[in-house]
Amino acid sequence: MDHFPIFLRVQGRRIVLSGGGDAALAKLRLLMKSTGHITVFSPDPAPEIVKWAGEGRLRLVTRAMAPGDTLCAALFYAADEDAVADARTVGIARADGALINVVDNLQDSEFITPAIVDRDPVTIAIGTEGAAPVLARAIKADLEERLPAALGPLARIGKGFRKMADALPFGRARRDFWRDYYFNAGPAAISGGEIEVRKRLDSLLADHLDRKARPGHVHFVGAGPGDPDLLTMKARRVLDEADVVIYDRLISQPVLELARREAVMIDAGKEGFGPSMKQDDINDLIVEHAKTGAQVVRLKSGDATVFGRLDEEIDAVDAHQIGWDIVPGITSASAAVAEIGQSLTRRGRNSSVRFLTGHDTRGFADHDWNTLARPGEVAAIYMGKKSARFIQGRLIMHGADRHTPVTIIENASRPEQRVLGTTLDALPAALEAAEMDGPALTFYGLAPREAAAARRRLVDTPFQQPVRTQEAL
Ligand code: SAH
Repeated sequence: MDHFPIFLRVQGRRIVLSGGGDAALAKLRLLMKSTGHITVFSPDPAPEIVKWAGEGRLRLVTRAMAPGDTLCAALFYAADEDAVADARTVGIARADGALINVVDNLQDSEFITPAIVDRDPVTIAIGTEGAAPVLARAIKADLEERLPAALGPLARIGKGFRKMADALPFGRARRDFWRDYYFNAGPAAISGGEIEVRKRLDSLLADHLDRKARPGHVHFVGAGPGDPDLLTMKARRVLDEADVVIYDRLISQPVLELARREAVMIDAGKEGFGPSMKQDDINDLIVEHAKTGAQVVRLKSGDATVFGRLDEEIDAVDAHQIGWDIVPGITSASAAVAEIGQSLTRRGRNSSVRFLTGHDTRGFADHDWNTLARPGEVAAIYMGKKSARFIQGRLIMHGADRHTPVTIIENASRPEQRVLGTTLDALPAALEAAEMDGPALTFYGLAPREAAAARRRLVDTPFQQPVRTQEAL
């Protein structure tokens, strides 16, 4: 972040702008939303500026800016749309000690003006460090559409009620009250005007003061394979409300970013507790936090019910009579099969599909190799990299065709995703050559659909350009 966002108090302070053309007009429209005192210097101002000056919305001086004109100014905008003129006024403003912005010139500016969504007193500033103004405008348009016009009045009325709401204990009780106001009670009452909203606030506060403290609760949440777009709405909601988030090694950073900012984030996959924290310690950690009354989100990669040691954690929570629920997630097999454009089951090919693990706590895991070795079988193999040679040996021993397609998808759904198409015969060598160090899902019996790769390239959005290498079969 080269530019750190802050909200500057400009109330009653001077804001000076040099310029009288289109760039000046655009900036002034924005600046006039503030309570700063605006002065414009321009020998040849556009008619709108003259009109605004007439209405008392700004002070207009119809001459070029001179030394001393920016004394005591908080902000200065160079908007003459001329490099030489801008350099001259910037020199003056710098000597006078104002913060400087040169319109459309990131290099010479000390601050940048963000795109703004205005629901005063709620203000959203969007910046792209000058990299993509088009993107900032698109995000602004999106937010404008999504945020109800009533947000401003609700926030203003809410602000006046803050002292009253302080009767609630600090922390979760207060947060719950305000959440209820902004997302339920407030929007429902706003059509009745300010008086109605105030009445509603009073009864809402009485209601919340009556409530017993919410007991602790654990949500076991499937975080999906890594792409935050693959989270369920429910997962997003509980993340947004969590007091404590206990997460595994495979949870991606973009998913963690969605947790409530005040939430305590605990990495349960951290090295230093051995390769990962011991299961018993994780169980204790979950229980300990839930017992304090916290809303705990236990984040597990993919779907929590697939190779996630979920039952041990549920038993621990149950033993302490703590409430819990499971929020399903997209398991890596589902995400990976989508990336290669295939189906897990297909008429005439396979009417069942297996999810297997390459190894369990005892070492390489044994399976019904005899059935799997039959033509057309499909299996999604989790944790299958180290055990690739073992699995290959077992399958071939039980009569599997050496040319059976095998596809490995590393980092499915993440920007660094790779797809490796090979055969049972070549599997160990191909894996070794590919040097994969991310989580990888191995499909036995599936090859990437050729057409899928081309189609994906067409629909990739500029937000995420996955790097995909695809070795030929
Ligand atoms: N509960 C998880 C699986 C946990 S076991 C789920 O439903 O997906 C961990 C294994 O999951 C990894 O060894 C790997 O085989 C697989 N995995 C997890 N995330 C993955 C991803 N983004 N891409 C490919 N495989 C992944």
